[in-house]
Amino acid sequence: MEIPLVDIKAQYELIKSEIDSVVAQVISEGAFIGGEYVKKFEEEFGSFCGARNCVGVGNGTDALFIALKCLGIGQGDEVIVPANTFIATAEAVTLCGAKVVFVDCDSESYTINIESLNESLTAKTQAIIPVHLYGHPADMSAIREIANRFQIKIIQDCAQAHGAEINGNKLIEYGDILCFSFYPGKNLGAYGDAGAIVTNDEDLSIKIRKFANHGRISKYDHEIEGVNSRMDAIQGAILSVKLKYLSDWTEKRIEIAKKYSAYLGSIENTSTPLCCSRFKHVYHLYVIRSKKRDALKDHLYKKGVLTGIHYPVSLPNLEAYKYLQHSPEDFPVSNQLQNEILSLPLYPELDDEKVEYVTRVIIDFLS
Ligand SMILES: *Cc1c(COP(=O)(O)O)cnc(C)c1O
Repeated sequence: MEIPLVDIKAQYELIKSEIDSVVAQVISEGAFIGGEYVKKFEEEFGSFCGARNCVGVGNGTDALFIALKCLGIGQGDEVIVPANTFIATAEAVTLCGAKVVFVDCDSESYTINIESLNESLTAKTQAIIPVHLYGHPADMSAIREIANRFQIKIIQDCAQAHGAEINGNKLIEYGDILCFSFYPGKNLGAYGDAGAIVTNDEDLSIKIRKFANHGRISKYDHEIEGVNSRMDAIQGAILSVKLKYLSDWTEKRIEIAKKYSAYLGSIENTSTPLCCSRFKHVYHLYVIRSKKRDALKDHLYKKGVLTGIHYPVSLPNLEAYKYLQHSPEDFPVSNQLQNEILSLPLYPELDDEKVEYVTRVIIDFLS
């Protein structure tokens, strides 16, 4: 049996007629950047997030960068970022001129560790970027409390967490700004690059929209210099079609994750993702931990099961951040995780037979 890590084509087959028709419509209308389709998606996605404003941008990395920039973060400021995330979270900080401050993660939720976060605050800390890694929300009550106490901005990296909740509340309840990626493999994926910034702050959203469109509101009235980071109409139209299915797809992800955990939960020396009723985990990725990770990955590959490692090198250990002169001991949890984590195939169309096959291969190998 051949099982991919994600299967974007399987999903397309299910919605092909709707997708093909909107794409043809956008092309026949010839309005490719912004416009009605993007506006419609922005309204729908803003309301999906429970927020008043949504601005479509070019991709998730730009969403983070533009959010930081429009909050006035720059030279001389420090921004706290978890050590185990995709590099984009940290890149956005450097790009706006501020300094990246890495913080270790929690050994169970894999999201930012609150104690280490507290220890990393300085007078220069201007923002925190919690990442809802793999779809599991960070401990936002604790982060919000810290942010309020020290007047620090929160930019939530929601690239892996479309629809995640805490205590039944949407993520916007816990912070100023949500940044999303619609990279094709994300829980809500475009057919190309796209991203969005969601906020309840009307003035901020106007500023963001202006900055993302060359610093202008209308054609040539550039009030400031900005960047070119706009959502294109084909992506907006595709995302509107897919958004209708997102809640169903998320429920399917959760069901599959529950099945995996039921099968794999009792294997010795292997841990399954933290599942706690307070957090709605949307399982962008289903990540297990094993001391025999590399051998297990090879074995699964030989049996036709493709897996991933998110991420194989924790950010402070990358060549790109050598200048920060960290040693692995500075981030013990992230450092251990990078050698033990393994992402199993997970997409809404993954059927029971495949889930059982994957778990059987794992159980056979580990026992
Ligand atoms: C995918 C991702 C991003 C970046 O999104 P792009 O749309 O690829 O630029 C940022 N942060 C995290 C955690 C991601 O997974």
